[in-house]
Amino acid sequence: MTAMEPATPPTPAQLLRAAEIVLSRPAMAGVAAATSPERYAAEQEGILRRLWDGSAALRRTVGAWDSGRAVPSSSSALPGARRPSTEERQVQRLKGQLAEAKERARLYRGRAERAQDEVTVLRTRLEESAERSREAEETATTVAMERDILSARANDPVRALRTVHRALRSAAATRSSDPRDSAAPGTDILRAHPSVRPLLELIESAGGDREGLLKTLDALLVPDLPRAAPAGAVETSVVTGPRVVPLGGGTEIGGSCILVELGDTRVLVDAGIRNDDRADHVAPRLLDTELASGPPVAAVVVTHAHNDHGGWVPAVVRRWPGARVLCSSATAELLPLMWQDTAQLMRRRADERRRWGERSADAPYGRAEVNVASRAIEDLPFGFRVPIGDLDIELFPAGHILGSAGVVVRGAGRRIVVSGDVSVERQLGAEPLSLPVTTEETDLLVMESTCCDALHMSREAMVEDLVRSVREVCENGGRVLIPATALGRAQEIALTLSSRLPDLPVLIDGLAGNVAETYGRHAEATAAERAVLSDRVRRVKDRRAEQLTFRQGVVVSTAGTLRGGPAVIWARDILPDPANALFICGYQDEDAPGRRLLELADGNGTLDLPDGPVEVRAAVRQFQLGAHADRRGLLRVIDEVQPHEIMLVHGREEAQRRFRRLLRERGDCPVDTAAWSPAHS
Ligand SMILES: [Zn+2]
Repeated sequence: MTAMEPATPPTPAQLLRAAEIVLSRPAMAGVAAATSPERYAAEQEGILRRLWDGSAALRRTVGAWDSGRAVPSSSSALPGARRPSTEERQVQRLKGQLAEAKERARLYRGRAERAQDEVTVLRTRLEESAERSREAEETATTVAMERDILSARANDPVRALRTVHRALRSAAATRSSDPRDSAAPGTDILRAHPSVRPLLELIESAGGDREGLLKTLDALLVPDLPRAAPAGAVETSVVTGPRVVPLGGGTEIGGSCILVELGDTRVLVDAGIRNDDRADHVAPRLLDTELASGPPVAAVVVTHAHNDHGGWVPAVVRRWPGARVLCSSATAELLPLMWQDTAQLMRRRADERRRWGERSADAPYGRAEVNVASRAIEDLPFGFRVPIGDLDIELFPAGHILGSAGVVVRGAGRRIVVSGDVSVERQLGAEPLSLPVTTEETDLLVMESTCCDALHMSREAMVEDLVRSVREVCENGGRVLIPATALGRAQEIALTLSSRLPDLPVLIDGLAGNVAETYGRHAEATAAERAVLSDRVRRVKDRRAEQLTFRQGVVVSTAGTLRGGPAVIWARDILPDPANALFICGYQDEDAPGRRLLELADGNGTLDLPDGPVEVRAAVRQFQLGAHADRRGLLRVIDEVQPHEIMLVHGREEAQRRFRRLLRERGDCPVDTAAWSPAHS
């Protein structure tokens, strides 16, 4: 073979030999140290093939080496005495390749594991920061809404005028001819609004004419509603008195709304949210159909700030923009807070529904409607009367929660009393029930009947039991979680614990904390002992920090059903430890996690919370601390009022039927829960 003859292409073995020879050159020492001949042969195959073609010397050397007759011309990198056989070299090579592959696999596995760890860490961080940004966004919205409401209160001239108006009216109140009115309590508006006094004094000292000013304000602030029978119109029926129609919350609990109408004056007592099977926040059952035509709603009188009584008011004010909103002073403070929270919840639900593809998933109201409705609120102190068109409204304390009221509606010489939610047992956080003489012998008593079928154990005994149980757990170094509704029960429990166990640390978390602050503000304004927060009873500001450091005491948190809210986060923390306890204090419906927890109460087990399962080792107990009158309490109210007729609302139909039978047996006159008009007489 000469240099001119084309070379036969090298076999893989020859190519490897060629690589070994090339690498054995002194000039290749650096490369040889960094690689193996196998890898060099694989990576530099092109170069080696060109060398093979162009160098007869290389081909010869490979041929001689392979046959064992010759050695490479340079001896600098020659193998030692005995060269291993081809098979041995191949085995060695394969072993080397195997070891290398194993090493590489080990490295990659390690790298993959580290990457997986990093992904987990990053995902957790991402979730945490998403959660924080959600929290921050909600806090920002709440703060913005609170600011809106405060600035509206501070800058609303109509609100200021209304307060002056009521003060003047209160000062110039004329007695009506009804002898029952003469004993009406007539709360002094100046006590409820001390800030008005200097204004009145200013008017006096400027030689102002109170009477004239009152007339001007009457004209400005009391809208002229169309009369029932305009001059010249043919009267088709004799108006005998106000008509009453339960539009919602009649034979159910939720969506309370009672229409009282006389002539063209329509007043709603309550406009609550209803939760039905399909949606969480809907209008009172008959509100839209019954009021589809006819005169606008002139006012909504809100008995108390619970959502099933006042939660639909912003939607009512949107639909009838002139509607006034009347309630007690404390309810006036609480309603905007509840509406803000509901608006945020409704927005979250609507977002969820949109994500599931529902196109028309709009929240019933938002921040704008909450602001408008908040501006429409007029606080009406207990015992003071305000005219609304042909009707006239008065509130009295109903003992259910802070600010809760019953309503006396008068018109055409008739009186209707709506009890609202009522409690005859004294509570620390609520003005006790006080029925004014104006409720006596009312034509119709519209009465709640939540517990008309029940006889409660004495409240005092129940409170004693709760206090003793809390003390036991805390003295043994444990923590107690009490899930409670945001408005009413949470504050009542905190007030009870702090009055009986003054050294016990108590945390209030969630909306219950915001409400507790309102209790405090209201306590200050009325000099009542209702300040919930103190050195020992604190609001949770930084939940993560509190969870790490709060080791002994009581946590009161929303939601009472363990369906959501911070109570779920605390339950996850508290339930797995046998030193702790969870005390259920409110009603639990069929599918509430709180109900399932009670079913576990005898033995330990696993509870499914909204964010996943949790092991239950803590003690679980139930305490009945209701804020509704039981059968005995309701009968006491009836005996005091002695109404001509009674309509039961806000209860379960079957229980109402039994209670109506009892009333008839006693000689009372219960009527059906349906549209009512006074009998002609
Ligand atoms: Zn209520």
